[in-house]
Amino acid sequence: MSELFNVETIFAQNVFTMSKMKECLPKSAYKEVVRVMEQGGELSLATADIIAKAMKDWAVEKGATHYSHWFQPLTGITAEKHDSFITHPDQDGKMIMEFSGKELIKGEPDASSFPSGGLRATFEARGYTAWDITSPAFIKEAATGPILCIPTAFCSYTGEALDKKTPLLRSMEALDKQALRIVHLFGNKAATKVTASVGAEQEYFLVDQNKALLREDLLFSGRTLFGAAAPKGQEMDDHYFGVIRERIGAYMQELNKELWKLGVTAKTQHNEAAPAQHELAPIYETANIAADHNQLVMETMKRVAGNHGLRCLLHEKPFEGVNGSGKHNNWSITTDNGINLLDPGDTPNENIQFLLVLACIMKAVDTHADLLRQSASDVGNDHRLGAAEAPPAIISIFLGEQLEDVVKQLVETGVAESCIEGGVMKTGVSTLPDFKKDATDRNRTSPFAFTGNKFEFRMVGSSDSIGSPNTTLNAIVAEAFCEAADRLEAAEDFELAVHDLIKEYMTKHQRIIFNGDGYSEEWVWEAKRRGLPNIATMVEAVDTLTTEKSVKLFERFGIFTRAELQSREEILYETYAKTINIEALTMIDMASKQIIPAVVSYTKELADTVIAVAQAGVEPTVQRELLAKVNLYLKEMQQALKELQEAEDKVQKIANAKEKAFFYSEVVTAAMGKLRTPADQLEVLVDKKVWPFPTYADLLFEV
Ligand code: ADP
Ligand code: MG
Repeated sequence: MSELFNVETIFAQNVFTMSKMKECLPKSAYKEVVRVMEQGGELSLATADIIAKAMKDWAVEKGATHYSHWFQPLTGITAEKHDSFITHPDQDGKMIMEFSGKELIKGEPDASSFPSGGLRATFEARGYTAWDITSPAFIKEAATGPILCIPTAFCSYTGEALDKKTPLLRSMEALDKQALRIVHLFGNKAATKVTASVGAEQEYFLVDQNKALLREDLLFSGRTLFGAAAPKGQEMDDHYFGVIRERIGAYMQELNKELWKLGVTAKTQHNEAAPAQHELAPIYETANIAADHNQLVMETMKRVAGNHGLRCLLHEKPFEGVNGSGKHNNWSITTDNGINLLDPGDTPNENIQFLLVLACIMKAVDTHADLLRQSASDVGNDHRLGAAEAPPAIISIFLGEQLEDVVKQLVETGVAESCIEGGVMKTGVSTLPDFKKDATDRNRTSPFAFTGNKFEFRMVGSSDSIGSPNTTLNAIVAEAFCEAADRLEAAEDFELAVHDLIKEYMTKHQRIIFNGDGYSEEWVWEAKRRGLPNIATMVEAVDTLTTEKSVKLFERFGIFTRAELQSREEILYETYAKTINIEALTMIDMASKQIIPAVVSYTKELADTVIAVAQAGVEPTVQRELLAKVNLYLKEMQQALKELQEAEDKVQKIANAKEKAFFYSEVVTAAMGKLRTPADQLEVLVDKKVWPFPTYADLLFEV
């Protein structure tokens, strides 16, 4: 049964919103908060004390006993340490709950147990968390009881970023500053701030928890490392947008409710292409809040699943043979007086500011295609990108017919006289309305698609933080804006200069535009001909972070120092190696302790049958044939297991992080594949009763 509740009442009930602050803070304190939020700077300690007290009173009223600085270290997930509001009792033994301004704005978790990629060794273990005042505090309801969570940035003692939030905030400031120069050049002097907005569509799988718990691979690595395809996959297209089953529906309702309470704008839900796969899309928000909220979405998805006997899989490729999961990162930039710089209007050919912004984005994406590719890479995403279910690993921009035509005119003649119109869509049924068509159809295969008034970066992996992709997007576009503004501000004739610039950028970077089928083999060749990078794997993408081009970009806008980039590189190699190591060890464990013993017993059963049937005077043809076949695969498995173990032994001797990651990527994953093949063959051959864990059919179709 579904539960009834009033969405307007519960929305943001667990968030210390601006309106709550306005209600309970003295006017001057509230004003100071607004000023710091809008213009930056620091809160006075006196004001911080007032806010902390108000926040604590509000939280305590809602049952909170603890607070936590909530941050996003480079593990990719969130971290929290709870401190209660308890203070030392007075002489009479009476205790008063307290929360000071100092505790609100600054925390000191030990940084030594979080990934720092070498920064730690150089700069001590001490780390600090600092309140991101632009992202509201919230109360997380968990088994611990309600916890007041303060969104924070996490830095080392000397100020190096150790998290995903700090660079994102820095990149937003860079974009703000450079985009403002552009809009001011076009006469929009009233704009004082430009903000990146993001809406992240989140895909996920739900499987039965009890069944998932029977599989070590799902438990330890979040994906299946063995498993033959079920007789049915996604070929009937009957799951996408299909009717949502009861158990899943109840899950979605609770998920929405929990998210709404946290002020997360959960908006759209539907079944996705693969069986047991679903999607949730929120309404877009300011980039850093969207990043925080996406973490809450992922966390809540996993937590709520337990209440319904389900397990939520956020891995990019939990099952072979059906689609994996991604995260479409919708991105746009808007001024504080309401102008979306990516809105072309009805006649984009006449919208010079839009065309300049578009030209800058073309330049940014073409110049830094390698960085953008890197920003969307994680271990799991290696299984998706380029596998004809997600965008290819090659970065290109899809503009659609209308804009592509405008760009073509500009490149050819320097002016765009006309633009293709949408026209009317005729339904052919007299009782149905005819409606206005978009001028542009969709292209699902493009990694970076223009969709009306935003760009949709479709490469991001489902389990990844959206911090890096948005940091990168903001940074590369800020650079292009900066270079354009430098030229335009110095130009004598603005009109002329801007036309020249648009033509120049579009001409130089038109190779990044691709409107065709991104899944096709021809595109791989065509992209190569155009000189576009095709970076197949995560480990191959890592060192794009520290090219001179990249260091120059990030240092120029104060987003990363060289040392920070080097540390991130190190962490990525380490993360890759550790992840594949866990997968390899899990496979070895499952093969040697579960699959091989089960199949060995089965061969005994078969052998007994062969003997018994022969003794009964009948030729055991089928039994013998089956036994021989099973035995063959068993031998193959044993051999592959040995090879994987040897590869594992070898890799442990490699000290260099990069070399180690490459060994995992090239040798260990190949050995894992060799072990999986005979195991999956055996699964198909042997009696279902003897298979030691739930199969794809059990997991994907029996929720
Ligand atoms: P589509 O069907 O093209 O994917 P939707 O309207 O369903 O588009 O939106 C998908 C996601 O994009 C949602 O999270 C939505 O809030 C977000 N979105 C819509 N407009 C913008 C915008 N201007 N900037 C950033 N994100 C946006
Ligand atoms: Mg979309």
